[in-house]
Amino acid sequence: MMLSFDVEDWYHSHNLRGGLDWEQWDEYELRVQHGTTRILDLLDEYDTEATFFVLGHVADRAPGLVAEIDDRGHELASHGYNHELLYEQDPSDVRDDIARSVELLESISEQEIRGYRAPSFTITDWAIDILDDLGFEYDSSHFPAPVHDRYGEISIESTETIAPIRDGFTEVQLPLFDAKVTRIPWAGGGYFRFMPYAVYRRGLERIRRNRDCVFYLHPWELDPGQPCVRDVKYQYRVRHYTNIGRTEEKLEQLLADFEWEPIGENV
Ligand SMILES: [Zn+2]
Repeated sequence: MMLSFDVEDWYHSHNLRGGLDWEQWDEYELRVQHGTTRILDLLDEYDTEATFFVLGHVADRAPGLVAEIDDRGHELASHGYNHELLYEQDPSDVRDDIARSVELLESISEQEIRGYRAPSFTITDWAIDILDDLGFEYDSSHFPAPVHDRYGEISIESTETIAPIRDGFTEVQLPLFDAKVTRIPWAGGGYFRFMPYAVYRRGLERIRRNRDCVFYLHPWELDPGQPCVRDVKYQYRVRHYTNIGRTEEKLEQLLADFEWEPIGENV
């Protein structure tokens, strides 16, 4: 069972994009430390290490926080720099964005960056080529079925969690719950916040009988004090803010009920 966090701030969320000016990121209140510190404290309490996919823009604004994640024994990985959806960009821009994020993370820590997660899971085949070429060992951005209006798609036959794509490069796929009529992402984020913890836990127990699982959350999902952006579609507001005040206690239950490891230890 692999535990991961996508370290980005509230204003990086695509759910809120319509109500924010992405050119003004540096003007928005920096709050990423609130949720991240809560996560780090909980992980210490449960003696658990995890993978932190850090956004380059966060590393630029809060380098001390990245150093702290490193000091406290967790795996650092890349979430790119700008948080733009991959399939809306030119491959050469994506390459520059990823390389910039790696350079930044490696300048703050002693770690060699081995893993990547695409913004909003928008992975593509050509991005896999770029990651492989840049020396990454794994990507963890793919749900093995079309499930969401924003997620990306890659050519991969295996539905295994740890799926080698080519020599030296592995896709670590996110779990789905097979509910017969549909498949529901069962990897964390909004889906984790929407449902009661007992339901989530039962689903996870069922999935892991057959396969390994990856879980993810964002620090802003543990930050009820973040600004409320009202000028976005109702469905996106629901996706972003539902049950934000309860994520912390649910994460604590998840840490108490299951054993977790960083992704890099399984690849
Ligand atoms: Zn993200």
